[in-house]
Amino acid sequence: MSLNLIMLGPPGAGKGTQAERLARNRGIPKISTGDILREAVHEDTEVGRRAKVIMDRGELVGDDVMIGIVGERLGRTDAQGGFILDGFPRTVAQATALDGLMIGRDPLLVVDIIVPEDELVRRLSTRLICSNCGHNAPLGDGQPGAKCPLCGGELVQRADDSQKVVLERLKIYRANTKPLVDFYHLRPTFRSINGAQSPDRVAADLVAAVEAAGSVRRAGAPGLDDVVGGVLP
Ligand SMILES: [Zn+2]
Repeated sequence: MSLNLIMLGPPGAGKGTQAERLARNRGIPKISTGDILREAVHEDTEVGRRAKVIMDRGELVGDDVMIGIVGERLGRTDAQGGFILDGFPRTVAQATALDGLMIGRDPLLVVDIIVPEDELVRRLSTRLICSNCGHNAPLGDGQPGAKCPLCGGELVQRADDSQKVVLERLKIYRANTKPLVDFYHLRPTFRSINGAQSPDRVAADLVAAVEAAGSVRRAGAPGLDDVVGGVLP
């Protein structure tokens, strides 16, 4: 059965890093809408040009564009055996559209990474980013001025990570995500994990959550065999 996973979690929860790691272990793509958008803008595709106009105005790219981008990406060959979505869905409209995209495929598993707010503020206020390629340095990975592990560029503190901006981002995240968690949390394939642990512990809990949700899914609703078994001698 394919691992079709959505990861939810606030900025600073380590979601991207965990998604990357699990995707590598399972040999499936990690699909980040942020990466896809940056790539589309960089390659100056039609979607990229539309997205750039919106982002230059300081607005968020709308549901239609995002759903189109993700639908196209999930249709590619390398995503047929499973995928991990990072940064999508962000709205209930996107989640509903994603359910539509999953028709005929294995059901979604949803994992929410939970981290207390004061811990997120602490993490986000000390986060570094590569000034050259935009890579987010994992927490505790060097001081400002250290070299990027990917391209050798200089690591600097993120411009948008002042305390006030951090609190605002978390507020927006909570407002947007609450309805999304409400949308998913009654599904038997929904799991929460504690993100306020070491990355290795979070990774282990993530694997356990995926296995647990996967076995619920397999047990799932009675299949055709059960029904037929009750009717035939
Ligand atoms: Zn870099």
